[in-house]
Amino acid sequence: MPLHRVAVVAGDGIGPEVMAEALKVLAAVAVPGQLEFALEEVEAGAACYRRTGEELPRETLEACQAADAILFGAAGLPDIRFPDGTEIAPQLTLRIALDLYVGLRPIRLHPGVPTPLRLAASDRIDYVILRENTEGLYASRGAGVLVGGHVATDTLVVTRPGVLRICRQAFELARRRPGAPRDRVRRVTLVDKANVLKSYAFFRALFDEVAADYPDVQAEHAYVDAMTMYLVQRPGYYDVVVAENMFGDIISDLAAATVGGLGMAPSGDIGDHHGLFQPSHGTAPDIAGKGVANPLATILSAALMLEWLGRRDGDDVAAGAARRIETAVDAVTRAGRVLTPDLGGPGTTAAVGDAVVAALASA
Ligand code: NAD
Repeated sequence: MPLHRVAVVAGDGIGPEVMAEALKVLAAVAVPGQLEFALEEVEAGAACYRRTGEELPRETLEACQAADAILFGAAGLPDIRFPDGTEIAPQLTLRIALDLYVGLRPIRLHPGVPTPLRLAASDRIDYVILRENTEGLYASRGAGVLVGGHVATDTLVVTRPGVLRICRQAFELARRRPGAPRDRVRRVTLVDKANVLKSYAFFRALFDEVAADYPDVQAEHAYVDAMTMYLVQRPGYYDVVVAENMFGDIISDLAAATVGGLGMAPSGDIGDHHGLFQPSHGTAPDIAGKGVANPLATILSAALMLEWLGRRDGDDVAAGAARRIETAVDAVTRAGRVLTPDLGGPGTTAAVGDAVVAALASA
């Protein structure tokens, strides 16, 4: 299918700035008659809420439902909130509305990108975190209970079908992904707190059930507190990591910090029928409007989108374009001439986007 309909939600803060660069890159990989994009720009987020009273207008939801894929910038601003004090977060609402249960977070150290870790020359960081996106502790969003100003509770939700489907996705991914840990053992690591809470013990039992169907993939468990240490000490050991919603959220940011920060961390929120692709970062109000946000996470998210479309539709041109973008980003980071301040460079958001487009010519 050469024409892909993409709903584009730029959002708030640096969202529109990084989105502009991702769209430049998509335009550069388009090939008439072979790989074309019909972009529909729609509104959601904090500014939208302030203007219309809605974080996710009906037209936006419908455009996202009708599209082949959704490309999302970032949404929410700390000073614009719902009456209950929580923040505007249409990306969370879309996860539930479109049943985007797989939170896909590739963690890869690109050449030349500074890492705070001391790695041996032969070490590489190349693993994927799968965060369960629709259940867990965040299933209570908007429905927690505050009793008399003394007690507040949120409920951690773990269901059998919810765990089985995310665990199956993790093992399938371990089977097909090209990168593998340095020791060449394909493995899936479950992150939990099964020693303390019944919900996590249940999650673990179901994970083991799925693992039995994949004898070719090593299955193991790690407690989340220990995992925060392991991801710093031996990141090269990991292949696919699967976690409940909140734990997946937390370890994703830690993992991003090991590969250059949030500006280098793409993500996909994927279900059986829809896929939304966005950088792992937020709207970064501290640097919004300055033209210095790193657009690479959003550009890499556009590549993830093309890879997903390529696999779903059997579209080799889209899959090839995804690989070309990855190669071009590698060329830009390796050269190190045009990088934004978060990576120690003097570059602007637009200059980095332009550099990726230029690198595509030889990718
Ligand atoms: P954030 O990710 O916006 O920023 C954290 C830090 O990382 C800041 O110092 C910021 O300058 C830096 N940073 C983030 N992206 C960067 C980039 N591309 N280039 C360079 N530096 C970058 O997280 P926050 O400050 O906790 O949240 C700010 C707002 O974003 C909040 O309103 C929050 O709700 C929202 N948010 C939205 C999403 C989303 O849309 N998916 C995700 C997280 C936070």
